[in-house]
Amino acid sequence: MRPVTASTYPRVSPCRHCGLAVLRDNDGVWIHSTLSYVCRDRYGALRGSYANPEPPATTRLGPPFGVQPAR
Ligand SMILES: [Zn+2]
Repeated sequence: MRPVTASTYPRVSPCRHCGLAVLRDNDGVWIHSTLSYVCRDRYGALRGSYANPEPPATTRLGPPFGVQPAR
């Protein structure tokens, strides 16, 4: 069991563009676990998009479980 935290996103999320795991760097910018900001496909070609986490599966119109949205 994982406790539900107050963060909007889990610490590591799949990229919405390429599916790679993404996490925040020291500046709070999303970066892939491959330490690349840009998305690449499985052949290493640039996809023209940047690391961006998928929205949490629990996204709802109302505040879920009392969690305050970040914005
Ligand atoms: Zn990506």
